[in-house]
Amino acid sequence: MAKIFCVANQKGGVGKTTTTVNLSAGLAKLNQRVLLVDLDPQGNATMGAGINKAGLAASTYEVMLGTSDVATARQRSEAGRFDVLPSNRELAGAEVEMVELDNREKRLKDALAAVDKDYDFILIDCPPALSMLTLNGLCAAHGVIIPMQCEYYALEGLSDLVNTIKKVHANLNPDLKIIGLLRVMFDPRMTLSQQVSAQLEQHFGDKVFKTIIPRNVRLAEAPSYGMPGVTFDPSSKGAQAYIAFGAEMVKRIKKM
Ligand code: ADP
Ligand code: MG
Repeated sequence: MAKIFCVANQKGGVGKTTTTVNLSAGLAKLNQRVLLVDLDPQGNATMGAGINKAGLAASTYEVMLGTSDVATARQRSEAGRFDVLPSNRELAGAEVEMVELDNREKRLKDALAAVDKDYDFILIDCPPALSMLTLNGLCAAHGVIIPMQCEYYALEGLSDLVNTIKKVHANLNPDLKIIGLLRVMFDPRMTLSQQVSAQLEQHFGDKVFKTIIPRNVRLAEAPSYGMPGVTFDPSSKGAQAYIAFGAEMVKRIKKM
C-alpha cells in the first residue's frame, strides 16, 4: 500500500513543484516505486519530469472526471525513473465541471485506490490555491508536506493552510496529518534565513524536517532540460539535499 503525500502551500513560487519532482526522483534513487500526481493545471511538474504536457491523450483531468483511469493516463518519466499522472490547462475546467458530480472532493482518492499497490509513494503537486483540486489532494493523502522559504512573510498564510488541513481532518479525511515543514531555497549566509529557520524549529518542533534544501541554481536550471535536478546534476548541493530528504521520508513512513 502506497503512502500518499500532498505537497501544498497556497502561495505560488515557494518550491512545491521543485520539491515534488525532486523528492520523486530522490525516492526513485533509493529504489522506491513512485507516482507523481500533477494536480496543477500549469503542468510544471509534468514538464519538469520530461513529459510534454501538450496533447496528452489522457491526464489528471480525465481521471478526475471519471472518463479515464490512472493506469491508462500515467506515463513513465525516464528522466526521473518514476511514473507521472500528467496535467495541463484542461484541468482548470475540472474545478467547474466537478460541481455536478457526487463525492466531488474524493474523486482523486477513489481513482488512486486502483493503483495503490503499484507504488511505495504517491506524491501530489498541488496548485497554489485552497481550491477543489487541492481539497481532492488533501482528501486522498495520509499527510501534507509544506515547503517554506525562510523569509519574513513565510508564516503569513500558514494558518489558513493549517486550518484547512484541520477541517479536512475533522470532516473528510481522518488520516490526514501535517508530516512536516520543509525549509527550501535556503541561503545560510542570510541572517534573516537563520532567524526564521530557528523560529520555525522553536514553534513547530519535530514537525520541521531535519533536511534543509539550499538555494541552488542547478535545481532551477533542470526543468528547462526536462529533468529533475536530482538526475540532471546528481552531485549538486540541491540534488544531494533532495536525496537526503528522500531518505528522511523513507524513515518517516516506517513510523506511520
Ligand atoms: P511552486 O510550485 O510553489 O510555484 P516552484 O517549485 O515552481 O514553486 O519554484 C518557484 C521557482 O523557484 C522556480 O523557478 C524554481 O526553479 C525555483 N526554485 C525552487 N526551489 C529552488 C531552489 N532550492 N534553488 C533555486 N531555485 C529554486
Ligand atoms: Mg508549482
